[in-house]
Amino acid sequence: MLRILLNGGHGNNTPGKCSPVWNDGTQLLEYECNRDTVRRVALKLDREGIPYHIITPEEFDVPLATRANRVNALCHKYGRNNCLLLSVHSNASKNHNASGIEVYTSKGVTESDEYAEIFYEQSLEHCPDARKRCDMSDGDHDKEEAFYMLRKTLCPAVLIESYFFDYEPDCRILMSEEGREQIAEWYFESIKKCIELYNQKHQNK
Ligand SMILES: [Zn+2]
Repeated sequence: MLRILLNGGHGNNTPGKCSPVWNDGTQLLEYECNRDTVRRVALKLDREGIPYHIITPEEFDVPLATRANRVNALCHKYGRNNCLLLSVHSNASKNHNASGIEVYTSKGVTESDEYAEIFYEQSLEHCPDARKRCDMSDGDHDKEEAFYMLRKTLCPAVLIESYFFDYEPDCRILMSEEGREQIAEWYFESIKKCIELYNQKHQNK
């Protein structure tokens, strides 16, 4: 059985991870949006009876080493290939004008790439208007980075950047009920496909 590990990035004490204050006085804090996505996805998983663990139930930021330790403890308990870590983020760019979504895995070809590809495919359906920011140089759509949570965790791991909170049109999506529900639905449908893939692989053994 594949277990979903949900890791909402940052915390209420993380400086800098926020949008500008827009003209109407609103502002998005990235940690809050990430935690909200985790809650929404968890609710959907609950309804389907899909097992999951919330790696960061705290509102404050938990050090990456602690997060990785929590993930790895679950990997030891359930088996690393029976866990899928999803790190939940939204993005920012240097010139505050980038838009769209990105799916990251660690460098090299791993099982994570297969799960990441599912998130990419599902984004076509569930976030059809979002720009898909891909790296096709290695034959798949995900980008590869040596992010701590991808590098230091034992199980397949995917890091998702949903939209750019420092670009107003994207941020409006992140602040809206419809946008948040759309993102959660994207995760949920992707997770179900990941479970299908996992089940196929494990039936053939
Ligand atoms: Zn982030």
